Amino acid sequence: MSLTPILVGGELQLGAGRELTSTDPVDGRPIATIASASVDDVETAVRRAAAAQSDPAWRRMLPHIRARLLHRTADLIEQRRDELALLQSRDNGKPITETRALVASAIGTFRYVAAALESSDDALTVPRGPYLTMSVHEPIGVVGAITPWNSPIASDAQKLAPALAGGNAVLLKPAGWAPLLSLELGRILLEAGFPPGLVSVLPGDGATVGQAIVDHPAVGHVSFTGGTSTGRRLAGSAAQKLMTTSLELGGKSPTIVFDDADLDVAVNGVLFGIFSSQGQSCIAGSRLFVQRSIFDAFLDRLVRRTEALRVGHPRDEKTQMGPLITEQHRASVEAYVELARSEGGTVVAGGSRPEDPALAEGTYLRPTVVTGLGNASRTAQEEIFGPVLVAMPFDDFEDVVAQANDTVYGLAAGVWTRDFPKAWRTARAVQAGQVWVNTYKQLSIATPFGGVKESGSTREKGQDAIRAYQRQKSVYVSTDSTPIGWAD
Ligand code: NAD
Repeated sequence: MSLTPILVGGELQLGAGRELTSTDPVDGRPIATIASASVDDVETAVRRAAAAQSDPAWRRMLPHIRARLLHRTADLIEQRRDELALLQSRDNGKPITETRALVASAIGTFRYVAAALESSDDALTVPRGPYLTMSVHEPIGVVGAITPWNSPIASDAQKLAPALAGGNAVLLKPAGWAPLLSLELGRILLEAGFPPGLVSVLPGDGATVGQAIVDHPAVGHVSFTGGTSTGRRLAGSAAQKLMTTSLELGGKSPTIVFDDADLDVAVNGVLFGIFSSQGQSCIAGSRLFVQRSIFDAFLDRLVRRTEALRVGHPRDEKTQMGPLITEQHRASVEAYVELARSEGGTVVAGGSRPEDPALAEGTYLRPTVVTGLGNASRTAQEEIFGPVLVAMPFDDFEDVVAQANDTVYGLAAGVWTRDFPKAWRTARAVQAGQVWVNTYKQLSIATPFGGVKESGSTREKGQDAIRAYQRQKSVYVSTDSTPIGWAD
């Protein structure tokens, strides 16, 4: 198998880091070996990025011309959408139906950001003297974008599109387990006509390559999506150089089913919320709170439906859950199932690998529901990032809000009730960046996304997405030729 090159400052070249092998989780077979980036490659990429970013051809490019490049990127992704969805599914094991949606999301992101760029204004502010006052926004310069393995094309697009729209050069550092879509996106951006050097895609070891990007004196901002402990370390490094960061981190999101909920709607939403993407989702609804009066009846229904979910080959159109990303990750999720048992929990669904011999070579795990644990248990508190749901009863509104908020995380929450005022009160009382009422895991590029507490502090998406990659500047221009009197 020939080595896959990486994108270093506009050049497709073999990286000088160690070789990374991407494997298909359905059978563990290698699909590509990547000559990953080294710290020297980061140095080269930064140098080329700084040159490309400061080139007047890019720096002075008018917003509608820049927007055209973003639209062209969307067109190129669209032309290759089936191939990209297939590659993403092979690289990280997600069902093809989901990876198609991720590719569509990336297309939508580039188009939306192009439109936001064309309609984003600088402003004249109210003057307090004989001058015009303006608030303008300028590129930061060279920025880093560090992403996890669970939804590469969508999370990469969410950073690349606004960073480029904002006039920056970008060093993208995808996760080692699934870097292939990020590399394809890099090629597409080159083909779309972004100046060579402006974008680098540098897969490699996080602690060396990622860290080198964060620490580099010429990198002015890092947008990070990944685990909370990595984010905390990264924020510490960024603080040393007083660099801004955008942090999208982990979660342990509550879904709350009140006794007046439409149970069919609630069961479907709870299942989708935790088990889609095999639970490998930052916003997975992994803590389920069901009102005590309906707990047993709801759990019966939930367990039956959980057992009926179709775990299978991710390229089968009917599959709802594919394999987990790697053997190592499955082992970590299985260790949590063991932990749940040792904490006194009862595994009422799943908890084991599927018996189907056709799935024996893949890293599959059945969707798992655990009962009998309290919210203080480690199983209920720690992010598992796999198909494991902890179901717990609650008594009333106050009780469930207290339990839902008793977590270090604050990314998402779901609430299921027919009582709109109660839904509203719950939505306002839970500490989370996004709350879904009678639905779950629905996302729009036009709506800001982010977390609170240890799930992060910043927002992506929405009209202001580009501003995260720009610096605001105030300019005062005199309208009076009289000298300032003080100096007389
Ligand atoms: P991770 O934190 O292990 O890695 C994320 C990225 O950071 C990878 O590219 C990794 O190589 C890099 N990295 C690691 N150490 C680094 C360092 N010292 N300096 C710079 N970069 C470094 O996360 P993961 O396992 O790839 O992804 C799963 C996690 O991501 C989960 O916790 C999940 O909740 C989170 N996530 C959050 C969101 C969100 O929007 N909030 C979305 C998706 C995933």
